[in-house]
Amino acid sequence: MSNLFIKYYCDECNEENETKIKQEEKIFTVKDTQVKAVIETRYCCKCGQAVWDEELEKKNEKIVFNEYRAQKHFLLPEQIKEIRETIGISQSAFSRLLGFGEKTITRYESGAPQDSAHNLLICFMKDKKNVKIAFNKNESLLTTREKRQVKEYLDKSNIDLLQLPENAKILKSVTLHNTSPYYNYMWREIENYG
Ligand SMILES: [Zn+2]
Repeated sequence: MSNLFIKYYCDECNEENETKIKQEEKIFTVKDTQVKAVIETRYCCKCGQAVWDEELEKKNEKIVFNEYRAQKHFLLPEQIKEIRETIGISQSAFSRLLGFGEKTITRYESGAPQDSAHNLLICFMKDKKNVKIAFNKNESLLTTREKRQVKEYLDKSNIDLLQLPENAKILKSVTLHNTSPYYNYMWREIENYG
């Protein structure tokens, strides 16, 4: 059923009235940045005043924050999650590794907009060398288990991109009788892996 004309409580009329949704382009301010976005607002059909629709508000918030991230060329929540999961730590551990407040990454992964400095630091974590720098700086903020998780990530060779160890046997069989420099390189990486 369409919720276009369903009844909502109107404060102005002090009763439930039929309502309709209108699309509107508006300017919002997100962290000192002006963002233009098309949002949806529900209006009372009787008096024409806007009525509160929690679901729409949530949807609008998401639209505005995504517009903000697009405008700033910032990471999306799912990209932040991907970077964190590559390192293999929890949201709270990733926050502490970066020197942020405990809940910061949780908020960003849930859609809250990040600021420039935080965005940049998270981007840096795509590079293992930078994870190592962050780890050296903030190691004391991590638990024993979290330290081990980060170390495991740091110790992994780049060949893990090929999903070792699942592919290791196959690669070994392929590389065994091949003498090209590339295969030799792969071979060494596999040997180093363990
Ligand atoms: Zn009304």
